[in-house]
Amino acid sequence: MLIFNNKAELNKHLQSISTPNSSIGFVPTMGALHSGHLSLLEKSVQNNSCTVISVFVNPTQFNNPEDLEKYPRTLEDDVEKTKKVSNSIIVYAPTIEDIYEGNTTSQHFDFDGLENQMEGKFRPGHFDGVGTVVKRLLEIVKPTNAYFGEKDFQQLQIVKKLVAKEKIPVTIVGCPIYRESNGLAMSSRNERLSAKERENASIIFEILNKAKLLFGTESATSVTDFVTKAFEKHPDFELEYFEIADEDTLLPCVIQSEDKNYRAFIAVFVNKIRLIDTISLK
Ligand code: AMP
Repeated sequence: MLIFNNKAELNKHLQSISTPNSSIGFVPTMGALHSGHLSLLEKSVQNNSCTVISVFVNPTQFNNPEDLEKYPRTLEDDVEKTKKVSNSIIVYAPTIEDIYEGNTTSQHFDFDGLENQMEGKFRPGHFDGVGTVVKRLLEIVKPTNAYFGEKDFQQLQIVKKLVAKEKIPVTIVGCPIYRESNGLAMSSRNERLSAKERENASIIFEILNKAKLLFGTESATSVTDFVTKAFEKHPDFELEYFEIADEDTLLPCVIQSEDKNYRAFIAVFVNKIRLIDTISLK
């Protein structure tokens, strides 16, 4: 199993194994791997001659210093889990210096407004940080295909916009959300929940499913009212936002239109831990 901390050595290796028909699949992560991450790896391994996973807690995408400090860092464990998917996966676990070369400021991006909705409103600077690190990682790894989860649907749309605008030659592949048996979307942040909180957090997906049903007959506003009231009954959960938006533009749904695909997006705090989830309303 090859592990690189340094982009020059990673590049040298990738060049040495490159052939005219080879392809590189890339799965960027912040580590603390769970089955959701592993599903992305499996897809990449199936569809490419070589797979690279990056494990890097990117400081510029955290708007909350406590969240950055408490973010789980479990590289040894991550390597073990990666090995179980395939021994031939290459791990790139760079230092901050290797990515940022002494300048940990974000580039500012215009993602045609995608960055101003939902997560963008509540996490100022977050998508500039994401854009900065994803652009650098794609330039370093030069993958054929890069795999991103629909769990972070807004991020997925922004990454697609990034590669289109910056003309980065890569195919971005969206992958379905992996959930725990109670429906809670898998997340590295779930590690910070107590067993009880983790169990109770099933209400997030339950409420999303009820919202989906309601959206068949009700307006976006009344579905939003329903969700707001549902969370008021659960004082341990603090709803940050619930929004029904157009999947392409991420603009809020005002009047339902037949030819648009809508999706519900939610962010909830459980004991200061911020969880996000999303569901297609099709
Ligand atoms: P992260 O380590 O949280 O930055 O996530 C790395 C990648 O894994 C991102 O593309 C995420 O969208 C994806 N991911 C995280 N959680 C899940 C999940 N539960 N199911 C599918 N993909 C996920």
